Amino acid sequence: MYGVQDRELHEECGVFGVFGVEGAASLAYYGLHALQHRGQEGAGIVAVDDGRFRRIKGEGLVTEIFDENNLAGLSGDMAIGHVRYSTTGGSCIENVQPFLFRHNTGDFALAHNGNLVNSKQLVRYLEDKGSLFQSTSDSEILAHLIKKETNNPNRPRIYSIIDALNMLEGAFAFLIMTANRIYACRDKYGLRPLSIGRLGDGYVVSSETCALDVIGAEFLRDVEPGEIVTIDRKGIRSSDYSKYKRHQMCAMEYIYFSRPDSDIEGCNVHAFRRESGRLLYEESPVEADIVVGVPDSSLSAAIGYAEASGIPYEMGLIKNKYIGRTFIQPSQEMREKGVRMKLAAVRSLVRGKRVVLIDDSIVRGTTSQRIVRILREAGATEVHLRIASPPITDPCFYGVDMSTKEELISSSRTVEEVCRKIGADSLCFLSREALYRAGSRSELCLACFTGSYPTALYDGTESTK
Ligand code: SF4
Repeated sequence: MYGVQDRELHEECGVFGVFGVEGAASLAYYGLHALQHRGQEGAGIVAVDDGRFRRIKGEGLVTEIFDENNLAGLSGDMAIGHVRYSTTGGSCIENVQPFLFRHNTGDFALAHNGNLVNSKQLVRYLEDKGSLFQSTSDSEILAHLIKKETNNPNRPRIYSIIDALNMLEGAFAFLIMTANRIYACRDKYGLRPLSIGRLGDGYVVSSETCALDVIGAEFLRDVEPGEIVTIDRKGIRSSDYSKYKRHQMCAMEYIYFSRPDSDIEGCNVHAFRRESGRLLYEESPVEADIVVGVPDSSLSAAIGYAEASGIPYEMGLIKNKYIGRTFIQPSQEMREKGVRMKLAAVRSLVRGKRVVLIDDSIVRGTTSQRIVRILREAGATEVHLRIASPPITDPCFYGVDMSTKEELISSSRTVEEVCRKIGADSLCFLSREALYRAGSRSELCLACFTGSYPTALYDGTESTK
């Protein structure tokens, strides 16, 4: 993961919920902090105490928005939170979640990770029926659909949620919090992760298991595709909103987004990446002196490549971890003078060496080009680039901001052409089959590598660029 403006792939969002544990908002704060890598543009927490909903949200990092004083105002043993990277709707405070809805059948809060592909159709349908949208985020659509189906106060809310979810198409992990329950829902394709943990007598729900570990919760299970898990004083109950279920987890969660200490559907992310590195060597060996990974997300794959090849792994690249959102980026002129803030090569390790450079993916290719140049300037005699995923040829419509098809370097070029443009001595990508093998999985979403999307796409479906 590079500095803010250099990154070519952006995370989608993260959700976190706590039920039945006093100080729920403070736990949500620690949970969101562990999910910060999934979104740095905004965060929010809604807590419920005795039926009263209170919310704090803001733009920026979790540590910039919350402090002891404002968290003290979020009392209660139920809370949901969200970290946001702006996908659909753009970045402004109205789009920072969780959303809070007041309604005569009961207030509720909502947090969402993912992207709907039929949002334009649903907004048109709801506006025709009189809905007014507060934000431009498609997460609000679910709230309007639930509200529309909740006009009979005697109808259990779960039926309204089931009806509403059945109208959505796309990728989502939703948390819905009422005065006395949390509902955790996952799309029927299984594109986005969502896990449940146990903490004392209460429960925790999180986009990634790393946030469960941080607060000492014990992993219970994943929310299944097409499932709604209801958490209340009686415990947890399961309902299916859809009989159609797939396990097409976003491959990029394993390749790039999730933290290495998270487990996704039973497979540890570090273990997946390390195995993908081993398979990358099996498929594309090369003679070299050292293996260097691009920090941080490619280090596990680099370790795997080094293990399989017997070529020593070296920390040939160092990332400056202290470049925040507000960092003044070097101008073009400063860059030309050689000011490089984010990545530096360790000259003494690299000089005179044939380097196998391992990266997780290539999006537009500009970052890879820059890293190859940094290594050559530090004295590397050869730079062989090995990528722990297939070429990205198509955009994502499910909440991952990567680029338009035209901007993707591999969408219209052969591997040899990409290699020449990047300036490496050789370039090889991992096969699709190896991704399945790395996770011992028979299903994954690979749409950005294949152009074959697991959901229907609609008129006006936009990539989250
Ligand atoms: S298209 Fe790519 S980034 Fe988007 S959900 Fe599928 S695998 Fe993930």
